Parts: sequence; C-alpha cells; structure tokens
Amino acid sequence: MIDIDGSYGEGGGQILRSSLALSILTGTPVRIRNIRAGRRKPGLLRQHLTAVQAATQVCGARVHGDSIGSPEVVFDPGEVIGGAYEFDVGTAGSTTLVLQTILIPLMLADRPSRIVLDGGTHNPFAPPFDFLAKAYLPLVNRMGPSVRATLERPGFYPAGGGRIVVEIDPATSLRGFALCERGPLTRQHGRVIVANLPPSIGEREISVLNKQLGWESEAFELEIVTKCRGPGNIVTLSLEYEQVTEVFTGFGEVRRSAEAVATHAVQMCQRYLGQSAPVGEYLTDQLMLPMAVSGSGALRSTGLSGHSETHIELIRRFLRVSIDRHRNHDRSETLTFAEKTT
Ligand code: AMP
Repeated sequence: MIDIDGSYGEGGGQILRSSLALSILTGTPVRIRNIRAGRRKPGLLRQHLTAVQAATQVCGARVHGDSIGSPEVVFDPGEVIGGAYEFDVGTAGSTTLVLQTILIPLMLADRPSRIVLDGGTHNPFAPPFDFLAKAYLPLVNRMGPSVRATLERPGFYPAGGGRIVVEIDPATSLRGFALCERGPLTRQHGRVIVANLPPSIGEREISVLNKQLGWESEAFELEIVTKCRGPGNIVTLSLEYEQVTEVFTGFGEVRRSAEAVATHAVQMCQRYLGQSAPVGEYLTDQLMLPMAVSGSGALRSTGLSGHSETHIELIRRFLRVSIDRHRNHDRSETLTFAEKTT
C-alpha cells in the first residue's frame, strides 16, 4: 500500500484525484491522509467525494473513508471496466475534475465508455468545459484513444445543474509525444456565455475584448443561455495553433464588473502571446499524468505551478518513470518523460 500525505505541496484536491487514478492504473492500494489539509475547508467536499465514488465504481474498488468531510481515504482498486456510468456531484462542484479522476483508467479499459456527469461545468479553480474540450482532450487523443465531450447544458456556481457527456474509445496503451513548439497560429476565438442574466453583460465584455485584443469582430461569439438552473457568465479566449490550443477563462462573479471579467481573460491571453512555450500553466499540470503513464514524450511549459511541482512528486511515488526538468533560456521549462530501465 502506498501512503500519501494529502497536505504535501499544494495540499489540494489534485493529490487525491491523481492518487486514485494512479492507484487504479497500477493496481496498487493507496491510503491518502490529511486530505486537502492546505485548503480552507479541509477533507472531502461533494466534488471530491463524487470523484472517490466514481473511481470506486469504474474498478469495483474496496474503499474506506468515503464520506463528506473525511480526512482520509483507503482505496483498494480492482480491474477497470468500461461501460455506461452516471455521476452527479449534487452541487455546483466541478464535473471536469471528477472526469479527470477516471478518464485515464477508462482510456485504457477493455471496452468503450459513456459517462454522464452532472454538476458544475465552468468553475473557478477547475478546468472549464471549453478548456477540457479544446485544449486538453485533443492532446490526450493524440496518445491513441478517442475521447469526445459534449456540453449538454452549462452549470455555474452556486446553482450547478450542468451536464456533460463523455464518450471514450479506449486504446491498449498511451503513446507519448513531444510538445515543444506551438506551430503557426491558425485561429483566435472568443466566446462569451451569459446565462439567466442580461445580455448586455456579454455585449460589454465583447466590446472590451474587441478593443483590447484587436481581433476581427467575427472572432467573437455571444451565447445567451436561458435553459439553465442559475445565473452565470464566462469569457473564454482560445488560441489555436497547429500543435496546441490554449484556452483562457474569465469567470463572472457577483460584484465583479463585466469589464473586469473580460480584462482578466485578455491579460492571461496576452501573457501567453508574449511567451513561446506551447503548454500553459494549467495544461502542464494536467498533461503530466497521461504523459507519465505513457512513459515517454516531452512538453515545454511556460512555467511550473505549485500544482505541477506537487504532481511530479506524486507521480514518482507510483510510476517507474523519470521526469527530467530542463530550464530553457527564455525561462520556459521542458519536462521529459521516460520509463526507468533500472
Ligand atoms: P485542485 O486545486 O488541487 O483541486 O486542482 C485544480 C485543477 O484545476 C488543476 O489541475 C488546475 O490546472 C485546474 N485549473 C484551475 N483553474 C483552471 C483554469 N482556469 N483553466 C484550466 N484549468 C484550471
């Protein structure tokens, strides 16, 4: 049994989710203590509990500590079984984070899967659906499996009520690849979602995007959603290159002006445009798991976050894979993954 101190490094939910994924992938039981000790409300919240339950179901695991607030989970995995699954976070907790707990194991399962996830689809501090679909999944699909995600309806904090559907055609193994350059820019796109709120919010945001980015007005799209449980507002900027797509998100909040939401997304997008590495901060920590499981490949990152630093250490506990870090002249960092031979 591998013993993981959940308070290590970031001390957040990622240690829990990735430990579960790695436990399933390696068939190794795991105990995760001090879960989310670094966070304001430690222990399992709804989203984390749903992730534990999802991990348990897809492999028929034996589990202890799977209750709200629990600071410790003991997880003994079984064989992964592809199929039809439905998971409901029950709050606005992130569906994409629940998905990322079970995705890699199901990408290597014996048969295809179809997963329906209910909850939040565009949460701060989690990959928004657009990031999952445009940035993350195309790269994961380059490793062999075919994963398609559909947004049936958006769900925002605090009401939730969103739904995503994910179909997975698995592969027998993952093939790593090198992602060290962006290639030419092929498209730039801005999408604003306004749900159960005045459309003028979205119009003001698009006007800010237009002014600050200088893209053609056809590059922007305003989507008005009315069939949604609660109010919500999202600004998504996508930069599509030949080798990678990056997605930057501004989250609308009570007492945050439309101008501030749009400006935040623009600033992140412009920071990325001023750099040359293909893999942004969020994509770096998320790509690390499939790359390490493939046992090969490389990625050049704009910079490693606390999440990424913690992830490297966690992955080393489970896999016989070396992750070599190289600092480049432009301050980007290249991570190279290789199976250990000794
Ligand atoms: P944790 O804080 O440990 O629950 O992990 C949060 C995860 O969400 C990390 O994998 C982050 O990379 C990811 N994440 C947070 N914010 C964003 C964002 N705006 N876009 C994409 N991914 C994000």
